[in-house]
Amino acid sequence: MAQSDIQDKKAAAGAANEGTDTRDGKGTGAGTPGAVAPSVGNAAGQSALLATYSRYPLSLVKGHGSWVWDDQGNRYLDFMSGLAVTSLGHAPEKVKEKVKAQLDELWHVSNLFQIPQQEKAARLLTEISCADAVFFCNSGAEANEAAIKLARRYHQKVKGTDRYEVITFEQSFHGRTLATLTATGQQKVKEGFLPLPTGFVTVPLHDMDALKTAIGPNTAAVMLEMVQAEGGVHPVDRGFVRELAALCKEEGLLLIIDEVQTGMGRTGSWFAHQQYGIEPDIFTAAKGIASGLPAGAMLAKDYLREAFTPGTHASTFGGNPVSAAAVVATIETMKEEHIPERAAEMSSYLKEQLRKKLADDSFVKEIRGLGLLIGIECAGPVGDLVTAGQKNKLLFVTAGPNVIRLLPNLKVSREEVDQAVDTLAALIAAHTVKEDNNL
Ligand SMILES: *Cc1c(COP(=O)(O)O)cnc(C)c1O
Repeated sequence: MAQSDIQDKKAAAGAANEGTDTRDGKGTGAGTPGAVAPSVGNAAGQSALLATYSRYPLSLVKGHGSWVWDDQGNRYLDFMSGLAVTSLGHAPEKVKEKVKAQLDELWHVSNLFQIPQQEKAARLLTEISCADAVFFCNSGAEANEAAIKLARRYHQKVKGTDRYEVITFEQSFHGRTLATLTATGQQKVKEGFLPLPTGFVTVPLHDMDALKTAIGPNTAAVMLEMVQAEGGVHPVDRGFVRELAALCKEEGLLLIIDEVQTGMGRTGSWFAHQQYGIEPDIFTAAKGIASGLPAGAMLAKDYLREAFTPGTHASTFGGNPVSAAAVVATIETMKEEHIPERAAEMSSYLKEQLRKKLADDSFVKEIRGLGLLIGIECAGPVGDLVTAGQKNKLLFVTAGPNVIRLLPNLKVSREEVDQAVDTLAALIAAHTVKEDNNL
């Protein structure tokens, strides 16, 4: 294997499991990434799970607030939050109470019936955003899939046109279903899955000319993230977003914002697009929406209601009473505790501390991000830092090979931020010394 391949492997080894950077190390020895813990696996040490993730040899068994514990009793400071999921910290009390109460009453009922918890969850979502109506599903990819379907159906059934094409951007990430991986602007998630569905065009981000050229008589919508998270934590330029929103109106295209990672307070407002002064026609949420229970939502403006009539789209589990109770409790808690504002405040503090303690390190190139979705762009692969972090009881992920991604919960304390930054600074300093010695 060429040296560069080895480095790529190492870089990939630190990447997020849920995102585009599925770790592809296939280590089998104890302690190597991808090793199966001794308590798992068959006689040959092989897991009964398909190896879609190369898992760290760590088994986390308990969580509380910003902390998780492994099965050996070690405690870790969690700066990844299940990848932007446990935004109120682990096992938030109010959500736990509501979910437990719901478990005592009713676990599941078909969407053929009224589900008051789901109604309430939808009402709350429309109160904190520009959306008027919500469809519940179970994940981010499903929410984006629903958004794509709604956009097509709106044009074809409400507007009576043939429009179907969705324009997306390079380095974007929209999910792993066939439609959403086609929408994703990264080649590696598409390999081996041909033929891909038609109806998607990808253009470079911030390239207005390319975008205008891509718009044709079949174009139905433009879909983008306000911060490309999996793609390296790149906030989209404000001017570009506004121009794009205006262009969509002019051309009769629907603007879809993927807020699966950026939504639910993560970036310092309920939804990141609220900081850009635009109103999308459709946007999606999932990761942080139910404090760790599976839930996703597609949110739309009033005029899109008539595109989805009974029988046009469905989900067995979507908005199920338990998940919906978790959504309600999560939003109510976030409102009571002013979580988006808190995330914005803590973002300033975290960035300030990072700049103070990391910026002088030659390995650190840029610190960027919105709210508590922070990227630290480095001069080389950072996969090793992730494993070193775990050894030092700090959990974080990457976003592409060279970017450290920090996703603390939105209630994280200053002391916890201080501790994480100190650990990270020490890890990076040690790493830089090692790099220098290798020169
Ligand atoms: C994680 C993510 C998705 C996919 O969500 P799943 O719940 O894993 O299907 C889609 N879009 C963005 C921006 C994400 O971060």
